[in-house]
Amino acid sequence: MRALKGAMMRNIPLMMTCQEFDSSMHDYVERSLPPGERRRFRLHITLCRECRTYLEDYEMTVLLGKAAFSEQEVLQPSSPPERVVRAILNARRG
Ligand SMILES: [Zn+2]
Repeated sequence: MRALKGAMMRNIPLMMTCQEFDSSMHDYVERSLPPGERRRFRLHITLCRECRTYLEDYEMTVLLGKAAFSEQEVLQPSSPPERVVRAILNARRG
């Protein structure tokens, strides 16, 4: 099945291989892929389910990575977190 699909893809002009897809994926997600390459990339996603799934996983990883990063920024505010303030107030009261 996979071999059959590979043969089919070689017959489509401008079709990028899974290896090319793999090496362009980072640039695609970072939106730094040239328009022509981007078109070939999208064509590959349309025709190759494995790479589509792979890209979705990759994008999810990148998004989660960015979310984790912004969460870190939120967790380091300039003023002390409310629970710390409460703990100090409770200690004074005690
Ligand atoms: Zn592929």
